[in-house]
Amino acid sequence: MNVAYRTEPAPGRRNEDFVIAGPSWVVVLDGATARPDVESGCRHDVPWLVERLGTALALHLATRAGEPLTGVVSAAIRDTMLAHGDGCDLGNPDSPSSTVAVLRKRADTVEYLVLCDSPIALRGVDGTVTVVHDDRLDHLPGGRPYSVELVRSTRNRPGGFWVASTCPDAAGEALTGTVPASSVNGVLMVTDGVSRLVDRYGWSWERLVATAAADGPDRLVEQVRKAEIEYGPRGGGKPHDDATAAWIHW
Ligand SMILES: [Zn+2]
Repeated sequence: MNVAYRTEPAPGRRNEDFVIAGPSWVVVLDGATARPDVESGCRHDVPWLVERLGTALALHLATRAGEPLTGVVSAAIRDTMLAHGDGCDLGNPDSPSSTVAVLRKRADTVEYLVLCDSPIALRGVDGTVTVVHDDRLDHLPGGRPYSVELVRSTRNRPGGFWVASTCPDAAGEALTGTVPASSVNGVLMVTDGVSRLVDRYGWSWERLVATAAADGPDRLVEQVRKAEIEYGPRGGGKPHDDATAAWIHW
């Protein structure tokens, strides 16, 4: 398995994305940016959360090869909760959170897990691209714009959206699947800082995957920054975001 990745913070900011890979697995995380006016009950910042969660995931993936991915993610969330220590209020609904995307290749199968909006695109040997995208955050009751209260009250609740934070059971709500390794020959994992090429700037997923395959993940991040400058923050939101892409092939 060949893995290449690029992660880059939004200009002038600390990176709240995180990527880590092993011999047969890759993890991509995107920490939710904290709102300055909200008391999270936690003395840690978002980079701390994604570093802790990412390395916990790596530990479990490296040492528990037989564990289903939902079990791996649930255990890593639990480890991260313990790492907060007694000084943090883990009952606070604004405690730092992150998306999780995991890919694991075995001899005959490829497994994936997507929790919140860091999508995975599978390139079939026939050239078709299948996107696994957990877009529940885009469909909260009542529609956008979301109030702080709406997001808080629907986070890790049935009918709302699920994310890695202080609820290990969120892992069981992730989108998961297994496909024969012989049916897929490439996988692209991205944070929404890269999938905005599709969401905002008119790219197809096929073009995203073809660019990663031909020119590597560097090119995707370059193209995101170029589009952000050329077209501005189409559809609102941040003008720049942390951008991470991992291209895996065999
Ligand atoms: Zn904390």
